[in-house]
Order: sequence, then C-alpha cells, then structure tokens
Amino acid sequence: MSFPVYLIGARGCGKTTVGKLLARQLSYHFCDTDQQLQQQLEQSIADYVAQHGWGTFRQQEHHALLTVTSDNTVVATGGGIILRDDNRQHMRESGAVIWLSVDHHVLVNRLTADPEIGQRPTLTGRPITEELYDVLQQRLPLYQQAAHHIIDANQPPEKIVIDILTALSRDSLTA
Ligand code: ADP
Ligand code: MG
Repeated sequence: MSFPVYLIGARGCGKTTVGKLLARQLSYHFCDTDQQLQQQLEQSIADYVAQHGWGTFRQQEHHALLTVTSDNTVVATGGGIILRDDNRQHMRESGAVIWLSVDHHVLVNRLTADPEIGQRPTLTGRPITEELYDVLQQRLPLYQQAAHHIIDANQPPEKIVIDILTALSRDSLTA
C-alpha cells in the first residue's frame, strides 16, 4: 500500500489528531488541507471567508486538496471537503477514504473543550455547537458516499488508529 489515505468527517472528529498518529504508524507523511489552505491564502481562513465568501473559499480548498495529494501520505481534510463532487471523486479514485464518525454530543463536548476550534469560522455566524447539528444532518449522506470505510471515532485515538489499520489491511488482502 502506498496510495494516500484521506480522513474525512465533521470539525472536531479527530482528523488531525488521528491523522498524525496514523501517519507515524504507517511511516507516511502527514498533511492537513486546512494548513495547506492557510499557507495558500496567506491569511486566516476566517479572514479569507469574510472577504471572499464561501464559494471562493471552496475553490481554494479544492486546489489545496490536489496540492497535498501524494503517495505515502495521510491527508486530514476540512469538514466541508465532501461538499464538492469533484473532491469526493478525486479522493475515492486516488486513495482510501476513511470517515471518522462521531456522535453529535461527543463532538459538542470536544468543540466546547477546545477554544482554538471554537474560534474557527462557522458557516452561519451562529455559535458552532448550535449550527453543528444542522450541518451534520446535511453532510452525513455525503460523508457516507465518499467513504470507503466508516470508523467509530467516539473511541480513544489509539483505538481508532488500530481500527483504520485493520480496515486498510483488509483492503490490501482483497485488492
Ligand atoms: P479535526 O481535525 O477533525 O477538526 P482535531 O483532531 O483537531 O479534529 O480534534 C478536535 C479536538 O478533539 C481536539 O481538542 C482533540 O484533542 C480532541 N480529540 C480528537 N480526537 C479525539 C478522540 N478520539 N478522543 C478524545 N478527544 C479527541
Ligand atoms: Mg483538523
């Protein structure tokens, strides 16, 4: 196995946390589309969205996804990456797509406990925990469509990594 592994899921589901651990286990590089975006935009995501709007932001995000795509890489993606058909298709065709699925109340707890995340721009301007439920409902079918594997990410990061490695090794047995 050398193809990229993409982690998808809601803000706070653990893509960055789990992605770094997984990359270490696989001896892969780790990339974060949100981090790539910030380099690309040369300003914070919040400021960019305020100035240019979400549509232009999604275009930039698509470009960031293509830029970080590389073999032997774990890619943590932004929560909205699955909104565009071309992003879903690109990930499915170029690598393994893992959805870190987390219950709504667990997400709320994590986001409330992490002030850095609480400050990320929201889609509607409402507090993140309020809009989260609606956003999740809207996106669940898209996460499902995009994913090769759905992982229960309500568990500790180390256990999530084990489950991902198990799913990936099943892939390579059947490939
Ligand atoms: P994402 O990159 O998907 O937005 P992060 O990896 O930044 O999510 O994690 C969001 C917050 O939740 C962080 O404070 C992180 O420490 C915590 N966290 C992530 N994964 C877990 C987990 N499996 N169990 C408990 N807390 C977690
Ligand atoms: Mg992240």
